[in-house]
Parts: sequence; structure tokens; C-alpha cells
Amino acid sequence: MAKLIVSDVDVKDKKVLIRVDFNVPIKNGVIGNDNRMVAALPTIKYVTDNGGKAILLSHLGRIKSDEDKKALSLRPVAEHLSELLGKDVEFVPVNEGAELEAAINDMKDGDVILMENTRFQDIDNDFGKRESKNDPKLGEYWASLGDVYVNDAFGTAHRAHASNVGIATAMKAANKPAAAGFLMEKEIKFLGDAVDNPVHPFVTILGGAKVSDKIGVIENLIPKSDHILIGGGMAYTFLAAQGHEIGKSLFEADKVELAKELLEKAGDKIVLPVDNVAAVEFSNDAKHEVVGVNIPEGEMGLDIGPKTIALFKDILKDAKTVVWNGPMGAFEMSNYAEGTLEVGRALGNLTDARTIIGGGDSAAAAIQLGIADKISHISTGGGASLEYLEGKELPGIAAISNK
Ligand code: AMP
Repeated sequence: MAKLIVSDVDVKDKKVLIRVDFNVPIKNGVIGNDNRMVAALPTIKYVTDNGGKAILLSHLGRIKSDEDKKALSLRPVAEHLSELLGKDVEFVPVNEGAELEAAINDMKDGDVILMENTRFQDIDNDFGKRESKNDPKLGEYWASLGDVYVNDAFGTAHRAHASNVGIATAMKAANKPAAAGFLMEKEIKFLGDAVDNPVHPFVTILGGAKVSDKIGVIENLIPKSDHILIGGGMAYTFLAAQGHEIGKSLFEADKVELAKELLEKAGDKIVLPVDNVAAVEFSNDAKHEVVGVNIPEGEMGLDIGPKTIALFKDILKDAKTVVWNGPMGAFEMSNYAEGTLEVGRALGNLTDARTIIGGGDSAAAAIQLGIADKISHISTGGGASLEYLEGKELPGIAAISNK
């Protein structure tokens, strides 16, 4: 069912509650990677340019104590947003009560306010985690503050919180619109098309530490993909399932049977490393070498090897849809980064394909390579994009009004 988009709704003179994902890294008040903020700008600008009042809500980190509250205030985020938008953003240091309500009442069309971290509601009350456990009263309260709700926080769409599912539910109950923002729309379009309607050949690339994190994705994408390329730590459980020696590489003993089943189900769709970079220790300074498919005793596989890189690139060159989630090795260490960087370069070189990167480490690799603008879509949600690729319905999306 097509979802209502912010551009379908009249925002002029309206109080528009926008749930953004400003969960950005902050150290000593300074914001690190602000991609998620930049990605939310089109929706905020659309609302203010069309005469709406933008009332922003976001979580930041996890709040378990008063100490956390000091470290995880959204105040520096409001300052940075003001720079990004080139206009004043009023920070309201609470997210409930008279001070917030007065600030909203004083807003003029085109104004922007950011209220304090929604997860401050997770402590110091009778309910417990009011935001993260979706206290319906909190969703109702926030919904009462606006005329229109817009959810642009794809990164939290796999969770049912008061600021996404709670508000949307209360808005709909009050016959008020709960729409998707442009970032949410883009995420649904790219991930949805890849999963439901891929142009073939469709190549899925999976890596990262654990098989257990990616089982759902593999199961859902085996029938849809033409090839599933597997690298990273998770590859070694599959190689072990095939009877190869894996030395002291990452290994999930309780997933070997499942790996065997998946290999059987996938036929020759699953492509595993044919060579590896192996080291004696998990360290960039450790003695390392290129080895074949078997890892010598006492060594661990930390990257895919040059033959595997060539094999993966050869498969990728004809791809028309590519989904990539997870690094091909311990890429934070320069000696084991080549596989991940080469896969990123191969994606960047595809001019006639839809290329999609699930958030997290693979997105970081694309940015490090400076090829982010050559990728069709880099998801802003790691966990959310994985659950989407698993074929699950995400509660944050389900709660948005249908057209
Ligand atoms: P994930 O969070 O599951 O995407 O895993 C990412 C992490 O897996 C990164 O920190 C990588 O360093 C790590 N990783 C990838 N490949 C390997 C490997 N072969 N051995 C150990 N760690 C790895």
C-alpha cells in the first residue's frame, strides 16, 4: 500500500511535527558524521518553505541515568542544524509541558524548533521507558501538539517507539495525517524496489562479523538474488560448513548446520571466498599473508584475498541491482581493508545499475572512498535496512497513513 508523503499534505500555517533521526555521534559537544542530519534537510525545508511550522523530535543515544542526560542533550545538534539550514533553530530544553507548549504557540510560519531528546522520557517516571516502550499517553501528548505528523526517521523504523508509532497512531485516531518524509520515501523506494522488484542480474553482497545477524536477509534474498557474495568474518562459518580449514577465524559453531542448509538451498548462488588474507593475530601489525581457501592452523582470515576480489568484481560487472551490507574483512585495519574498499570501488564504477548500501560499516567504507555520490542509495538505517531486507514489516512504516 502506498504511503502518504509530506508533499501530499497541506502544511501551510500548520504545526508540523517531524520525527527526524538526529542520532549522530557527538564528542565534547562537537558533531562527527552529520549525514543523517543532511539527509533530513529536504523534508524540513519543504515544510518551512511551504509556510509550515517545523517542530522536530529525535532521540540521541540511550538514556539510563542523569549522567547520560548531560552527555546526550540535543542542544549542540540544534546549533549545527541552524548552520545547515542557514536560519535560526530554537532549542527547547524539555520535550513535555508548559515551556514546550509556549514555544510552539509562539512559532511563526517557517520557524523551526527542536525539542530535547525524546529518550529523556525513558527514566524518572512511573511507566519506565515511556519513549522506547511506546507509552501510548506520550504518543497522544506529542500528537496533541501538532496538526500534521511526518516521520522521516528511517533509522528507527524497525522499533515501535512513542515518537514514531505512538504519535502516528494517535494522529490517525484524531483524523490527522501521519505522513512519510522524503528520506523515508527514498529509503522505502530503493530498498522496496530491490527486494520486491529488482532488475536482474541482482547481486547481494554480505559481510561483517556474524552469520547470525544476516540469516534473515540470506533466507529472504536467496530466491530473489542471482548471486549472493559472502565475505567478512561470517564467511568462515560457511567455509567450515563446506569442510574447509578455517584456523582460528571467526566461527559460529551453532550456525554450521544452518550454513549447510542455506548453501544447499542456494545452489551455486552463494559465492564464498576462494582465497584470504590471514594473520596470526587480530592486529594490523601482525604477520599476515595471502592464503588459499584453507586458513593455516594458528592463523585467522581477516580479509578476502586478491582472487576473491577479482571473482566478486567479475560477477558485479554485469549487475543491474546490487545490495551491499557488511564489510569484507576487518577493514578498520589498513592491512585488511582492501577487500572492502575494492568492493566499494566496483560498486562506484557501475554506471548502469541500482546500487544500494545498507547503513553502518559499508556506508562508512563508501564515504571513506569518496564514492558515496556514485551509489544510488546509501541507507541511513543499519538495523532498519537489514530488517527491511529480511522482508519484515517495519512498525514505524506500517504506522504511517496510507494514501
Ligand atoms: P557487522 O557489525 O556485523 O557488520 O560487522 C562489522 C565488523 O566485523 C567490523 O568491525 C569488522 O572489523 C568485523 N570483521 C569483518 N570481517 C572480519 C573478519 N574476517 N574477522 C574478524 N572481524 C571481522
